[in-house]
Amino acid sequence: MPWCVSCDKYLSPNSVSVVGTCSSCGNRVIEGDDKEVKSQKIPWHFWVFVSAAMIYLGWRLVEGLWVLFT
Ligand SMILES: [Zn+2]
Repeated sequence: MPWCVSCDKYLSPNSVSVVGTCSSCGNRVIEGDDKEVKSQKIPWHFWVFVSAAMIYLGWRLVEGLWVLFT
């Protein structure tokens, strides 16, 4: 989210001009900390992959034990 230091508030992307200046004061806006938040957040497809791997490995374990004891 764009942040205007002069106005001391977050701006909606619509109120930031194409050159990246604040529409109310004209100063340059900086990108807020949402980039950091995004990089820290684990993407949902990672958990899909992890759960799929766990199901697969769990099944292989069951299968392996089945072969072992029969
Ligand atoms: Zn401003």
